[in-house]
Amino acid sequence: MNPAFSARLVNGPFGDPGLYVHLRFEGRALLFDLGHNDALPAAEMLRVSHVFVSHCHMDHFIGFDHLLRLFLAREKKLYLFGPPGILDCVEGKLRGYTWNLVDNYEFALEVAEVAPDGIKRVLFPAATGFKLEALSAAPFTGTLLDEPAFRVRTAHLDHRIHSLGFALEEKTHLNVDTTVLDRMRLTAGPWLSELKHALRRAEPDDFLITARWREQGQEVIRELQLGELRGTLVKETRGQKLAYVVDTIFTPANAARIAALAQGADLFFCESPFLDEDEDQATRRYHLTARQAGLLGRAANVRKLVVFHFSPRYAGQAERLYREAQQTFQGENEAERGEENVESRA
Ligand SMILES: [Zn+2]
Ligand SMILES: [Zn+2]
Repeated sequence: MNPAFSARLVNGPFGDPGLYVHLRFEGRALLFDLGHNDALPAAEMLRVSHVFVSHCHMDHFIGFDHLLRLFLAREKKLYLFGPPGILDCVEGKLRGYTWNLVDNYEFALEVAEVAPDGIKRVLFPAATGFKLEALSAAPFTGTLLDEPAFRVRTAHLDHRIHSLGFALEEKTHLNVDTTVLDRMRLTAGPWLSELKHALRRAEPDDFLITARWREQGQEVIRELQLGELRGTLVKETRGQKLAYVVDTIFTPANAARIAALAQGADLFFCESPFLDEDEDQATRRYHLTARQAGLLGRAANVRKLVVFHFSPRYAGQAERLYREAQQTFQGENEAERGEENVESRA
């Protein structure tokens, strides 16, 4: 299967949190969290269309300035989602600079403050020195972004403040069957992306697709009806899913929320700052241990668990955190703990 998105952590496991997700068929990217992100090349950062901030502790938000600086002279809008308080945090950052030479700039930042009882959207246009303009208010449904190809959902997690966990879901994965392509005497080209877009928009069977490619220097054009390609040339399979959870405590309510959010994910990025031996410390700081991350991965039936956001106290011992998380995730070191699991701890 040709994956629809590729994801990578912006920094190493001891660095600030941040997940860069390249939407391969969309030519753009999503960014989860704004820790230090100088390591991200400008060209990649500029592909970002939507930013999702879990919460505004420094290690998750200090990269806002770098992002703003790169986008400032661009003629585009950037969308940012964050937990209750995000509007004040963004406004505070923007008020920290002088904006007397940007009146002809077209850049604008649209921010959505995601509270359990509703989502408030505002616009900060560069041209007005980023003066806040109220846009709209809507009820909270759990879905932040709903596009033809994918959606982003969120859950409010407990970090003694709200920390947002996120799930990115491709709605369905569309695969081109190359044997059918050959049988129909067609050649691959950018028209296949147009075909997939038409299928995602649920266009009718008589919708016309223009297949174009070059053959021996000549352009070949064939008009096809969507109905003859749906289910034959292009087959639907389950879409890809990834989940991102950071800075949260292991409590029954939280564990249930995380398991629901990340359920069935192909990739689960989960913080694990502490080892099980320091569980008290993790609980006091409203963070997870590597073992708890493993339990959450199991409860959510994810395919692959990636742990990160390690406490500096384990510098040079990353292997211990990885091992503890994976062993628990695989169910290897839980036997001596009897029947204890997410539900019974919960
Ligand atoms: Zn935090
Ligand atoms: Zn953190």
